[in-house]
Amino acid sequence: MHCRKLKAVGTRHSFNDIADAAEDIISLERFDRVVELNRDLRAVTVETGVRYGQLCWYLHEKGYALHNLASLPHISVVGACATATHGSGDNNGNLATIVSAMEMVTANGEVIVLSRERDGERFHGAVVGLGGLGVVTKLTLDILPAFDMRQNVYENLPLSHLENNFDAILSSAYSVSLFTDWQSDRINQVWLKRRVSGSAPFAPEPDFFGAQLATCQVHPIAGHHAEYCTEQMNVSGPWHERLPHFRMDFTPSSGEELQSEYLVPRPHAFAAIKAVAQLREQVAPLLQICELRTIAADNLWMSPCYKQACVGIHFTWKRNWEAVRNLLPLIEEELAPFKARPHWGKLFTMSPARLQSLYEKLPDFQGLLRFYDPQGKFRNAFLDTYIFAT
Ligand SMILES: Cc1cc2nc3c(=O)[nH]c(=O)nc-3n(C[C@H](O)[C@H](O)[C@H](O)COP(=O)(O)OP(=O)(O)OC[C@H]3O[C@@H](n4cnc5c(N)ncnc54)[C@H](O)[C@@H]3O)c2cc1C
Repeated sequence: MHCRKLKAVGTRHSFNDIADAAEDIISLERFDRVVELNRDLRAVTVETGVRYGQLCWYLHEKGYALHNLASLPHISVVGACATATHGSGDNNGNLATIVSAMEMVTANGEVIVLSRERDGERFHGAVVGLGGLGVVTKLTLDILPAFDMRQNVYENLPLSHLENNFDAILSSAYSVSLFTDWQSDRINQVWLKRRVSGSAPFAPEPDFFGAQLATCQVHPIAGHHAEYCTEQMNVSGPWHERLPHFRMDFTPSSGEELQSEYLVPRPHAFAAIKAVAQLREQVAPLLQICELRTIAADNLWMSPCYKQACVGIHFTWKRNWEAVRNLLPLIEEELAPFKARPHWGKLFTMSPARLQSLYEKLPDFQGLLRFYDPQGKFRNAFLDTYIFAT
């Protein structure tokens, strides 16, 4: 079959139109095999219909782990890597940073393999590819020996304590997430995900920078069922049952939410958080929850963390796009001095010119897209607007 335009989709969990197509769509959902586990190289190769949940079970059973996961395990590995999806942790790069090779079918039908070892900068340009280079058919990922983790939640961290101890708080565990509804001068919850080392018992401190240890399992959003969340309360368990916030056997996509996220260079983190706090009267009524996470710097051209460690300021909104669309420009204006970059898979209103000015490797990325896809077969309105419009 000949297609003029073609868009590959993953699990279609992106909130903006990055995965939309005006013409043909291809889903690799059924290509979901693990192709090879290479114990010597500590690498796993998967077909790109694989979702994290499925891959995690496979790896754990074989004694291996991934370095990090997003808040839920239901998304596809390929879709997550294409948009630089991330979890949290000062030393954890986004999920695309562990890709060591990718196989894809380019616009002329050629099957090519790009590898970190062999293709250097071209590879760094291709991994966070925004779906524009071709149909990615296989990915090889770095893996780690399996590990156990325990999760503890603290409640009511005063904002002033966060300001004075920002680095200490965000570096206090393997993965740290802060949740706030901006209803007051406090962070509602601090989620600490720690790796278990040794067999010595671990008793969490009752107080964490003025926040108190939760005494029962909690959900980030007040009033929501905590049984959907991964196990907390210091109970140790496998990495893939602690790194995401939500359990694999819970289907989260009720469709009752919208999401936006801005990645701010780490040195500006608290100033940016304060700028958002100043908009609390406008933000809080539309918000389900705001999450703050840290992500390590990387070398991937279109990653918001290219050469800079970042803090992600994430908003889960109520489903009221008209009101959210009116609010996002205010948030973007407040965050502009900090060079905040929007998440590629979430909602934003920034102009294409502004977005493009934030990516120093954009001209090289445009060149890479033109090289692999000279006729624009894989380009959609999103790529035309945000990558190519001048
Ligand atoms: C409930 C929820 C929670 C989330 N939590 C997080 C989080 O914790 N952290 C975070 O950073 N993000 C998070 N996200 C955002 C999400 O991770 C991204 O939107 C991600 O891209 C979704 O992956 P997907 O498989 O659904 O991809 P899709 O939305 O289907 O596609 C995304 C991009 O990948 C491309 N693509 C897909 N398959 C291929 C292929 N085979 N070849 C080439 N390109 C391809 C598409 O063309 C598109 O450009 C969350 C989203 C939801 C709905």
